Amino acid sequence: MVGSYDRKIDTLRISITDRCNLNCFYCKNKNFFHSSKTSILSYEEIFKIVKCFVSLGINKIKLTGGEPLLRKQSVDLIKILLSLHLEDLVLTTNGTLLTGYASQLYGAGLKRINISLDTLKKDKFMFLTGSDRFEDVFEGIKVSLKTGFSPVKLNVVLLKGINDDEIIDFIELGEKYESLIIRFIELMPANSNLKDWKRYFLSRAEVLNEIKKLGKVIPKEKNFTGFGPAEYFEIFEHKVTFGIISPITKPFCSTCNRVRMNCKGELILCLYGASSIDLKYFLRNSSEEDLTSIIRQSVLRKPTGYNFGEVPGSKVAMCEIGG
Ligand code: SAM
Repeated sequence: MVGSYDRKIDTLRISITDRCNLNCFYCKNKNFFHSSKTSILSYEEIFKIVKCFVSLGINKIKLTGGEPLLRKQSVDLIKILLSLHLEDLVLTTNGTLLTGYASQLYGAGLKRINISLDTLKKDKFMFLTGSDRFEDVFEGIKVSLKTGFSPVKLNVVLLKGINDDEIIDFIELGEKYESLIIRFIELMPANSNLKDWKRYFLSRAEVLNEIKKLGKVIPKEKNFTGFGPAEYFEIFEHKVTFGIISPITKPFCSTCNRVRMNCKGELILCLYGASSIDLKYFLRNSSEEDLTSIIRQSVLRKPTGYNFGEVPGSKVAMCEIGG
């Protein structure tokens, strides 16, 4: 599907639950109510919808949440999705449950995993997430690497005054483990409790300046799986690759190749778009052919972009749609 800006839309990000076992202060939304069991799509329904997307050329799926591993039998969903011979399937998780799941996930055929972790310090983790599970996450990263996931991408949301003193520590962690890729992400305004997001905002330029203290930073060729919105870099005389995702200072709307679906089956064309399309309704009330046609028409209406000057924050809560 080729939409505006000549963008080839080939990626679907699916949030399979809006429940999470962490309470990240920039993500949580106290006014957000979790969806009831009856309102969310079953795995069979997710599969049916994904099949329609695949028939339209979507071949990269990202599973997210909430925390996707909180949903029961998530490994079964991965198995059935892999039967569709996708080009790429990746799971984004907070890592708290990975020690228990890594080998099952890998055994099911999953090869790539993204883990979110914003600090390497236990007390800061508690402050950031309201949880004392730092060690579970850290162990989860090590177990995933040992199990064979490659690359394991570690997503670090940049937070001024909170983790800007750890940028070099993260780079050193990436240097220690060959298959670990650190990706720094600029904080975005979202529908969360955090209204003064600018106070915590740390830019791509600031991060690069910090990393340059280690050596010359060299942009990397686009040559490994899962190339999405991140730019990748190497550091002269260091064995490390790191990425930066800069939606604020270097927006990538003109190359955005993805759409999103939440656990209730609502299709969201842009993180900053106000409207959604209720695919669950069409799934339950029309033919596969009609559903495919609705998806196609909707995706081709993907907005050309957003303007943070005009849009104070997404209508969509990240805890619902998964970033
Ligand atoms: N529970 C899973 C996890 O932690 O990876 C998936 C859902 S979580 C919402 C997905 C990612 O979105 C995390 O890396 C999180 O840090 C990031 N995120 C949440 N709010 C954000 C914001 N306002 N700006 C940038 N990233 C955000």
